[in-house]
Order: sequence, then structure tokens, then C-alpha cells
Amino acid sequence: MTCIFCQILARELPGEILYEDEELGIIKDINPEAPIHLLIIPKRHIDSINSLDETTAQIGAKMFLAAKKMAEAQGIQSGYKVLINNGREAGQQVRHLHMHLLGGWKRMQGRR
Ligand code: AMP
Ligand code: ZN
Repeated sequence: MTCIFCQILARELPGEILYEDEELGIIKDINPEAPIHLLIIPKRHIDSINSLDETTAQIGAKMFLAAKKMAEAQGIQSGYKVLINNGREAGQQVRHLHMHLLGGWKRMQGRR
């Protein structure tokens, strides 16, 4: 498997892993588009939402719950975005299902 996210979660490539359990890992995005930009990634390789079926769809709920918990852990529960790019046309660069968690703008404003 040469997928970059599989390799990061297997520690075959460097990555800042903030959280992991049996089913998913959360890493820092290498090219952040917000003060806090994390990626919630199922450990099982699934290309995209298009590949989900009845047996794998529960990972979606796990990803949402992980987003909520990580937003609380990061202190951004008052405002954050979650985003899944699905398919090349929509900007999906890495073909391994992942949810972007973006936030921290208020914290930035406080610093100014
Ligand atoms: P997407 O465009 O939805 O497929 O998102 C892919 C995301 O992965 C982008 O925001 C990239 O900045 C990020 N990314 C690519 N390579 C790495 C890496 N090695 N470590 C962490 N994030 C990465
Ligand atoms: Zn993968």
C-alpha cells in the first residue's frame, strides 16, 4: 500500500499524530489553511465517500464524534468547520477518505 495516509498512520512516513485509536488517527495538516487544521483519517484504507457501504459507513459517525472531541481538546468547540473533499473535481488530493477539521480563528483574533 503506497497511500501516504496509510503510511503516516503506520509510522512509515513522518507525521504529527495527535490522537489515534483502533479505527482512526488524527494528524496535523502539513499545509494548514486555518490556525488549527487537522485531518481525521480512518485507519482502514477507504478511497472516498463513494467507497462506503453498509459495512463501513459507521466510520463516518466515528469521524464526526472524533471531530467533536478533538475540537473540545483544542479549545475550538465554539466554532469550527469540518470538510470532506470527495473526488478530484472537488479538490480531493489524497485518495484516502479524510475529514478536515478547521478552526482557531477567534484565538488568532485575540492575539492581535
Ligand atoms: P484533500 O485535498 O482533501 O485530499 O486534502 C489533503 C490534505 O492533506 C491537504 O490539506 C494537504 O495539505 C494534506 N497533506 C498532504 N500531505 C500531507 C502529509 N504528508 N502530512 C500531513 N498532511 C498532508
Ligand atoms: Zn490509505
